[in-house]
Amino acid sequence: MLKKSFLGLVIPQFEYERLPAILPEAEKVAATKSVTLFHEKNSGQNPPASIQVGDKVKTGQKISLFADHPAYVIASVTGTVSAISPHTGDFGKTYAAITIDIAENETFDDEFKTRAQSPTLQNAMAYLASAPGGPPLRSLADTENPVKTIAITGVDGDLLTGTQQYIANTCLNEIKDGIQILKKISGIDQIILVTGRDTIQGYGHIGADVKSIEAAYPAALPPMIMKNVIGEIVPAGKTCQEMGVCFMSAEAVASIGRAYTGGRLPIRKILTFIPKDGKQRLIETTIGTPIKDIVSVYGVSINVEDRIVLGGPMTGSAVYSLDQPVLPDTDAILVLDRAKAAYTSDYPCINCGDCVRSCPAQIAVNMLVRFLEAGQYEEAADNYDLYSCIDCGLCSYVCVSKIPIFQYIKLAKYELDRAKTAEATDV
Ligand code: SF4
Ligand code: SF4
Repeated sequence: MLKKSFLGLVIPQFEYERLPAILPEAEKVAATKSVTLFHEKNSGQNPPASIQVGDKVKTGQKISLFADHPAYVIASVTGTVSAISPHTGDFGKTYAAITIDIAENETFDDEFKTRAQSPTLQNAMAYLASAPGGPPLRSLADTENPVKTIAITGVDGDLLTGTQQYIANTCLNEIKDGIQILKKISGIDQIILVTGRDTIQGYGHIGADVKSIEAAYPAALPPMIMKNVIGEIVPAGKTCQEMGVCFMSAEAVASIGRAYTGGRLPIRKILTFIPKDGKQRLIETTIGTPIKDIVSVYGVSINVEDRIVLGGPMTGSAVYSLDQPVLPDTDAILVLDRAKAAYTSDYPCINCGDCVRSCPAQIAVNMLVRFLEAGQYEEAADNYDLYSCIDCGLCSYVCVSKIPIFQYIKLAKYELDRAKTAEATDV
């Protein structure tokens, strides 16, 4: 629920959406013709791809394009590979987009079935990294920053989104199984399930310590959970992982539970679809389903300058093609009519201070933005707390000059990370 500001005198406050206690089942939406999977691209010299256009694949089959790289995807349908093409994502990150035309009859690949009998962190990493929810399994194997606590988010980080809440409410058995398996394969006993205040009673003996958070945005973002639930403040420039905490969505944990108890790799994703009328729907679809198939089922017409956002309204990213597929971690698809989309402008900062008053990290955003606009990222990090930012997007929302502050922040962090990685490689 949005409590609107009045003539800019009050900074707006937001509350997370709470789903009703009794939920209808998520509506099933099928991919019509094909699915597309994004395979992380290896930047080095690649041996010939292990899969070619024209190859047939089964549902649940592991596809690794490059033998010298751990990246892979799991075929979410049975069919024939009809294209393998380059795709550029946010900030120029490159992928190989593998399109599979769907066959009439579905056949399941059984390779994982035998592995499922003896769960290990290695076989989980080898098969479940692209499962619904995108379990961050590599983090659990990080010996440099060992994980002491796994925090399962049964709440959604962004507004208008009910995906993780829905899963935390309806997939209790799978989550319980996933928690047992996670404990076994990682040796980590300290597991926290984070939920909303009103649902905390419903979890019984789930195998995790159940904790609740406030309903006010951005209480469900990891740095806020670190502070308010775990009792540790993440210092500027550090990550939750470096503090020994691995965040995993309820869906990721349910995927682990479902895979090992059923012997099949899960390929169907829950997400919140928010069309132009703002009436959310929880839907279940196959990973790789193009957005065009979803908008067409609900009769949403997309016009020039309408905006399609993957993720919620505060932290999501706009996409530019209806062929964009549903990814393992796509929790929401938001369609905004061009009349409602908040466009950016060339107006300069008028120093109103709204961004500073909204910022939960108490950053002098009005100063930070000047350095970001000038591309002076190191100064922004050294002198204006860039790395204290918790990526909530509130500053962009309130900015009267419509400066895309949050996008500048994401770009600056990305560029600084890239420079750091390049330096480390050169050494
Ligand atoms: S996104 Fe903006 S408001 Fe949110 S923490 Fe970062 S600087 Fe502050
Ligand atoms: S960046 Fe935007 S919100 Fe912040 S002080 Fe300037 S005009 Fe106001």
